[in-house]
Amino acid sequence: MPVPVNVSRARQETPGCANVVHLNNAGAALAPAPVLDAVIDHLQLEARIGGYEAAAAAAPKVNAVYQSIARLIGCRPHEVAVVENATRAWDMAFYAMRFRPGDRILTSRAEYASNVIAFLQVARRTGAQVEVVEDDEHGQLSIMDLERRLDDAVKLVAVTHVPTQSGLVNPAAEIGRLTRAAGVPFLLDACQSVGQLPVDVADIGCDMLSATGRKFLRGPRGTGFLYVSDRFIEMLEPPFLDLHAATWTDAQTYEIRPDARRFENWETNQAGKIGLGVAVDYALSWGIEAIEDRVTALAVRLRDRLAQLPGVTVRDRGRRLCGIVTFTVDGVPAADVQRHLAAAGINTSVSAVTSARYDLGARDLPAVVRASVHYYNTDEEIDTLCATLSSCRP
Ligand SMILES: *Cc1c(COP(=O)(O)O)cnc(C)c1O
Repeated sequence: MPVPVNVSRARQETPGCANVVHLNNAGAALAPAPVLDAVIDHLQLEARIGGYEAAAAAAPKVNAVYQSIARLIGCRPHEVAVVENATRAWDMAFYAMRFRPGDRILTSRAEYASNVIAFLQVARRTGAQVEVVEDDEHGQLSIMDLERRLDDAVKLVAVTHVPTQSGLVNPAAEIGRLTRAAGVPFLLDACQSVGQLPVDVADIGCDMLSATGRKFLRGPRGTGFLYVSDRFIEMLEPPFLDLHAATWTDAQTYEIRPDARRFENWETNQAGKIGLGVAVDYALSWGIEAIEDRVTALAVRLRDRLAQLPGVTVRDRGRRLCGIVTFTVDGVPAADVQRHLAAAGINTSVSAVTSARYDLGARDLPAVVRASVHYYNTDEEIDTLCATLSSCRP
């Protein structure tokens, strides 16, 4: 049994808790004080002694970021690239793959818009085909349908673990078992799962994984990371190379780095990177299991309360659910609900069909309100949300 999260300490260490009811953790979570301090300290050091000099002084801290991420997701430090965001991380892996006419790419209904746009662009350029694996009766990716579709023409399975637009947790490890058996590369978008539930690349069996800093990890904005398995790094030529990703060895030659940092570029936000490492360490200090227990319990409570409100429909589907809670209010557009809540100091967000056509489109939902809890949220905050919603009328 994990040691439960000490909520009052978590709130004391989160300055934003004094100002807002923050239920937009799937958008950007409130940073804890240690992350804030680490970022500000490094910016001040840069101002005091110079940016390059500050980077040299902080080199051990920056190197430790790779160790921290490796511990978080169960890989080795050289399999990690730290980049600007999850989209860039995902793109660096996806656009490194080569497709030919007739190749098939399998994805999920849950898939994020940016990933799908990239599929469509590459399909148009190369003649590869994109196929959406059906959901099962619970609303998660159907393992049976995936198994049925896997054959030699499938060159990639790219799936979203936890979607932006619902509380679903896709069965990543079951997908990994199938892709391993079939010898097909598996790219997992773990942007919404990392930081709120255990994500271990060996348990899951994915070959590539992307994540962001600012969501459930509570890191700084403009940070993210990519994991690429040892077995894949040297097979993947990054779509962009620079003098960090490669070395200019002779007038006509260059050599690409052997580690995952080939997917990075030279100039980076050092303060953000250090802050990302602190955010990972901070999450690990609470324990990811303890975080998951608290987050899922709060989300269960929130769904129960919402379901009791007249005119409110909870929209989450799936066998396993997480800290993202989505709902609609009869006769009130999601954006109006979000504004009504914001006016009362409650942060939520809206997921529109343009972020998730394969899912919200298929369910005929133009938009849903998204309330995403974190371990520092309280039962009282959930009650405040529900009380405020009761006064939201068409
Ligand atoms: C937010 C999100 C992304 C994009 O992350 P960025 O850090 O904004 O690039 C990708 N996938 C999912 C499922 C997301 O929710």
